[in-house]
Amino acid sequence: MSSFLAPEQALSTLNEYEHRDGLSVEALLDEQLSGGLTYNDFLILPGYIDFAANATSLESKITKNISLRTPFMSSPMDTVTEADMAISMALLGGIGIIHHNCSAEEQADMVRKVKKFENGFIMDPIVLSPTHTVADVKEIKETHGFCGIPITETGKMHGKLVGMVTARDIQFHMDDSSTLDSIMTKELVVAQKDITLADANRILFTSKKGKLPIVDENGCLVSLLARSDLLKNQNYPLASKKPSSKQLLVGAAIGTRPDDKERLALLAEAGLDVVVLDSSQGNSVYQIEMIKWIKENFPSVDVIAGNVVTREQAANLIAAGADGLRIGMGSGSICITQEVMACGRPQATAVYRVSEFAARFGVPTVADGGIGNVGHIVKAIALGASAVMMGGLLAGCEEAPGTYFFRDGVRLKRYRGMGSIDAMTKVNSKDGNAATKRYFSEGDTVKVAQGVVGNVVDKGSVRNYLTYLITGVQHSLQDIGTLSVEQFHKDVASGKVRFEKRTAAAQMEGGVHGLHSFEKKLYA
Ligand code: GDP
Ligand code: 5GP
Repeated sequence: MSSFLAPEQALSTLNEYEHRDGLSVEALLDEQLSGGLTYNDFLILPGYIDFAANATSLESKITKNISLRTPFMSSPMDTVTEADMAISMALLGGIGIIHHNCSAEEQADMVRKVKKFENGFIMDPIVLSPTHTVADVKEIKETHGFCGIPITETGKMHGKLVGMVTARDIQFHMDDSSTLDSIMTKELVVAQKDITLADANRILFTSKKGKLPIVDENGCLVSLLARSDLLKNQNYPLASKKPSSKQLLVGAAIGTRPDDKERLALLAEAGLDVVVLDSSQGNSVYQIEMIKWIKENFPSVDVIAGNVVTREQAANLIAAGADGLRIGMGSGSICITQEVMACGRPQATAVYRVSEFAARFGVPTVADGGIGNVGHIVKAIALGASAVMMGGLLAGCEEAPGTYFFRDGVRLKRYRGMGSIDAMTKVNSKDGNAATKRYFSEGDTVKVAQGVVGNVVDKGSVRNYLTYLITGVQHSLQDIGTLSVEQFHKDVASGKVRFEKRTAAAQMEGGVHGLHSFEKKLYA
């Protein structure tokens, strides 16, 4: 007779084991036993798959009030996030945080550009009068990128609608001084002011027009709808949008000095959704005061405070009213803070400690810095982060500021720490002030660098790259056997998801090894 157990006894035998394979998250991050850990120090054990990868939901909150369909944020750095990056991040379901290494006006212009990119009803369209000229339309096309313009008697909103000028009206029109009444289209398809967005979209669809002006009972213009927005909506189903306006969500960073209050006022006027208080050590009297001031003066703007790496730091900011927390000190790829300041914390431990604490107050956290691949994103979320913030991973994309150059035959882009001497000594073109103040104090006679200047390899368009990250994270969640970010957090907390520490040899084994040479192509 065989001494083996019968196959059907496998599950009941498993239940006899006192402990499940691997470690719970508390055991993994027991500091007494293993000190501070970072992402490469551990792995997640696989679970059970009974669903397709694309069935997983990556929806996650980044603040108490804002949910994203993909948990990705781009860093407020001047080599990572300006309007183009923020538009693409939002189209793919994430959000871009526009840097503040520029004048307040320049930063507000970037916010405005993101908000203008896509709309439902455009409540403040650019309007001209019949006496404006073709030159005026061409100038609008040059600065704003569109030229479908409603013409009202007064040249303003709420004036009587008398025509539309479109790209085709001016395409071959050579005389820039012609007035618009001579070229505008006067036979208009319009809709009445109480129409729903869905019904208005249907009219736009069937009329085959590029724009649909919405008018009140007196024929006066109240808003405008653009056909191209239907297409954007169709092409980017994950896009992060404000439900009321259908405009893309956008964030921006500010400091905690008195003039940052004026900066925020301009950003809020431009339509900002979330502000990130950009300090490397966020637990300060200045930040606490700033959070309270923002909550009082701009209640509709959510505040992500930080950076923090301990529960003690987090507690102060949560008590002050932070809607979200940004975690990380010294984990960024361009960062030398831990070396110079002797302050910081290994990122996995920081993310776990702060997120576990913040979750009790319903405050979501963002794991900022040190994200180098899809696996790091999944690990940050496993440890309780609701989203990740990426700098270096996105800096090589086309949509990041800066131009490509070749070195040793490789196409590169510059990527610099905001605490590098290079970034700190940039002078604003408009106000002549020193640029970002995150890393130095007014009275300093010497600037102490906390970051370096480097180069990153060309990654192509961020729209393709984010699609790769989304699909990669979905496949990972499938391997772990969890259907959503929300469920993942619950499964980790309950001890269902298990972890394993990695020795140095295990880390070697987990990378490509033993080959003479290889090509690492990440997606196709
Ligand atoms: P056009 O045909 O040259 O007007 O440009 P498109 O219709 O291709 O693009 C217009 C895009 O700009 C849409 O996504 C609009 O939501 C957006 N937009 C933002 N503000 C305005 C505005 O004041 N007027 C117009 N026409 N479009 C705007
Ligand atoms: P990365 O994604 O490249 O690893 O890290 C980006 C993050 O590094 C940023 O979001 C920001 O928090 C942080 N960071 C940006 N510039 C500097 C710097 O000069 N010094 C330090 N210590 N951190 C920086």
